[in-house]
Amino acid sequence: MWHTESMHRLTLGDFELSVFSDGTYPLDGGAFFGVIPKVMWSKKVAADERNYVTAGLNSLLIRTGKQMVLVETGMGNKLSDRMKKFYAQPAKLLENLSAAGVAPEDIDIVINSHLHFDHCGWNTVRDKNGKIVPTFPRAKYFAPEGEWQYARKPSDRDSISYIPENYDPLVASGQMRLLKGGEEIVPGISVKTFRGHTASMQGIIVRGSQNPHPVPAKTAGTRVGHPLDSSYVPTACYISDLMPTTTHIDLTWGMGFDLYPLDTIESKREYYARALPEQWLTVFTHDPKVPWAYIEKYESGKMVAKEVA
Ligand SMILES: [Zn+2]
Repeated sequence: MWHTESMHRLTLGDFELSVFSDGTYPLDGGAFFGVIPKVMWSKKVAADERNYVTAGLNSLLIRTGKQMVLVETGMGNKLSDRMKKFYAQPAKLLENLSAAGVAPEDIDIVINSHLHFDHCGWNTVRDKNGKIVPTFPRAKYFAPEGEWQYARKPSDRDSISYIPENYDPLVASGQMRLLKGGEEIVPGISVKTFRGHTASMQGIIVRGSQNPHPVPAKTAGTRVGHPLDSSYVPTACYISDLMPTTTHIDLTWGMGFDLYPLDTIESKREYYARALPEQWLTVFTHDPKVPWAYIEKYESGKMVAKEVA
């Protein structure tokens, strides 16, 4: 278990990226791996006697040089007693940010990929009087509009996943802006809808340099996206619950929670069509050990996650 950021920090072009954890929590292995048989997933991930596996809660902090942008805010500290029984409510994010010298007031922008309780929990906190207030007082918050519309009237299947206190007060006050998908929020940081886990979940795409890297002419002409190609732009994507851990990178290894499992497969295919040739760094929201990796595809079709050295 790790709770410090020192191990998970890298430079992406002009940006600095760090991963901060809100802690880890137990999750039913069957639900985590959907239709994949346990004899297959249990070779890769250990389950306890109750069939629980350990899931992480990874937020991504991007320092652009002008702003501090926080992608995802974990599970937070407002779970009901019933939900605490299942998820224990680790609530480590603010401590971990603080240990790295980052105060809530330092955050300029917060982006939620979707509005499930384990992705936007620290958006708000209760103050001394029990009033819901923004955790990051100066921040502009962003979330997918379709997700918010859905969250107001979720299905019986997933209504437990939505806690309106995490976003409704922010929308009401105008501090949260709702996104259609495709917007650039600040130069280099944009969102893109990947349907599957929910209808409107968005990945957060970070292009760490606004200018292609200058390279000597004789090395140009290699394949597009190769670091030696003149059009190479270092890129990362917080792909959220489209592939929550490195164990979910295979096209067919989706979660049981996905509302549109066939669309999960198509969205992964669409993601890989760019992310593989352009060598994007993929950031994993629920991986307790490997928060980011470069995904490669072998000739056999097998997908592998290469950890960042
Ligand atoms: Zn989710």
